[in-house]
Formats: sequence, C-alpha cells, structure tokens
Amino acid sequence: YYSKIGFIGLGNMGGHMAKNLLKKNYKLTVYDINNSAMTNLMEAGASCALNVAEISKEADVIISMLPSNQHVLDIYTGKNGVLSAAQKDILLIDSSTVDPSVSQFIALQAREHNLRFIDSPVSGGVNAAKDGTLTFMVGGKEMDFNDAKPILEALGSRIVHCGDVGMGQAAKLCNNMLLAIGMIGTAEAFNLGQRLGLDAKILANVVNSSTGRCWSSDLYNPVPGILPNVPSSKNYEGGFGTTLMAKDLGLIQSIATRTQTAIPLGSLAHQIYTAIIAQGFSNKDFSVIYQFLKDEDER
Ligand code: NAD
Repeated sequence: YYSKIGFIGLGNMGGHMAKNLLKKNYKLTVYDINNSAMTNLMEAGASCALNVAEISKEADVIISMLPSNQHVLDIYTGKNGVLSAAQKDILLIDSSTVDPSVSQFIALQAREHNLRFIDSPVSGGVNAAKDGTLTFMVGGKEMDFNDAKPILEALGSRIVHCGDVGMGQAAKLCNNMLLAIGMIGTAEAFNLGQRLGLDAKILANVVNSSTGRCWSSDLYNPVPGILPNVPSSKNYEGGFGTTLMAKDLGLIQSIATRTQTAIPLGSLAHQIYTAIIAQGFSNKDFSVIYQFLKDEDER
C-alpha cells in the first residue's frame, strides 16, 4: 500500500536502486547533494526534492543509501532532517552500511517522533544493484519487516530478517570481516604457491575441491586468468573497492572495541587494507591484495 517513495543518496548503489523502483512503477521523489545524480534520476522519471525536509513531507516510505555513519545521522537526526519533517507512522529504511548502534540510536529517536525505522544493508555490489538481485539483511520489528519486504523485493532477490534494529548491520559487518580475512588468506596461499613454482590453475583446482576452499578461492579468485569474469582478470577494475572494504573494516574494529571482542585477524585485515590504499591501490577491487603481496617487479 506504499505508493510514494522518497529515496536519499543516489550514488553507485542508490542510483541503480532508485531506477529499479521506477521500473516497478513506484512514484519516486529523490534527493542527493550531487546535482548530476539528481538529473540522471529526473531523466529516468523521478521527481527531485530541494532538500531532505521536502522529500520527507511527501513520502510514505523513505529509503536511504548513504556512505557512512555521519551522513546517515545528519540526514535523519540533523536539523531539518527526516525525523523532524516526516509524517507520522511512515516507514524509514536505511540501506547504508553503518555501525549497528547508529541504526539503534536513530530507531529510538524515530519512535519518539512516531516513525518506524529499520536497518537494511545490502550485499551484492553495483551489478546486483543494477540487476535488482541484492541481498537485504534487515533489522527491525516483524511488522515493519513485512511492510518493507514488497518494496525491497523490487530491488533484491533475498530479503532476510536478521532480528531487531541493528541486526541487519551486525550480519553485514560479520560477513564482510570474514570476506576480508578469506580474501587475504587466499591471496597469501596463491602467492606462496606461485613462488614455489606451482601453477595457479592447478592450485585452484586442488584448493577448490579441498578444505581450503572459500568464496574468494572458488568464485572470486584474486589471481588474474583463473576466472574470466572477475575483477582480477580485468586489471582489478570494478567490483568491491579497497576503500569500501577498509571503511567496513573500520566499522568492524570500532564495534569490536566497544564490545571488547577479540578480532585479531579482523584488526589485521583493517590495517592491511589501510596500507593497500596508501600504496596507491585505492581505486581497485579488494582482491588486489594479491598484487600487494608481490614484489614490485612481479606485478
Ligand atoms: P556512493 O558514495 O557512490 O554514494 C553515496 C551517495 O550519497 C552519493 O551520491 C552522495 O552524493 C550522497 N550523499 C552524501 N551525503 C549526502 C547528503 N547529506 N544528502 C544527500 N545525499 C548525500 O556510495 P555507494 O557505493 O552507493 O554505497 C552506499 C552504501 O552502500 C555505503 O554504506 C556502502 O558501504 C554500501 N555498500 C556498497 C556496495 C558497493 O559495492 N558499492 C556494496 C554493498 C554495500
């Protein structure tokens, strides 16, 4: 029964998601601080709002897809933000990847304004955003999840209820920590094999039918030429950038510190991706760790 959707944050992910809502005939109003992102959506059929307050007054559901903690806090709880302008009872869906405590803080404030808030971060990347095949990890009340589901189904192929508010973020961040560690381990093993004189394709064949197999070795191998359609075979272009991975690992470090949780490999992964960026790999896919481990003349 939601017909008027407001969408805030039309970047690499949000731009595609907003277009998919238009394709499903939702009436869409959009807002971004970047004018060319707004023009792009206007040409696709969306209305543009002048500011957050304007978009909030009209919509009966709002979706946001912003870079990180501070942007999300500003948009929702800032002066003239969503919470102060939105109509009673509307559903707020934040799909940005942020600290679970940020989602929980906004949900509390939202309740005081008689608004409903859920966190709904995604995995799948830019291509999945474009194809409408994202996975959504949702944190929030059962009723709010059920209301959001039909809308999220226009954007993704798996919509998972992970628990109360914040648990979508928790699931997303735990997964990405494991992804980073798996990728670094895969790159180390393949680099060592290569230094020993072992053919990478043969090693991949062995690993992927043995106990070392993981997503990074099997479906996203960091060694160029093993799989045709992954970033490592396209000069590490596209995919999931080292900067975004470092950002997520920074969030992971901070929630681990706050909960006094030991994440020795997760912490190391954060440092490794920070170093990779400093070495000039900031525009590359995160599988570029394989190149980072090599001597310069081997790259
Ligand atoms: P992006 O930087 O491309 O887009 C963010 C957009 O937000 C930009 O268009 C920016 O202008 C806009 N913005 C920033 N501040 C704003 C404000 N105050 N008001 C309005 N608009 C504002 O980022 P992205 O790649 O689309 O990622 C968005 C979120 O999704 C991040 O949290 C990211 O970690 C997560 N994510 C990204 C990927 C990916 O592969 N890109 C995959 C999964 C999750």
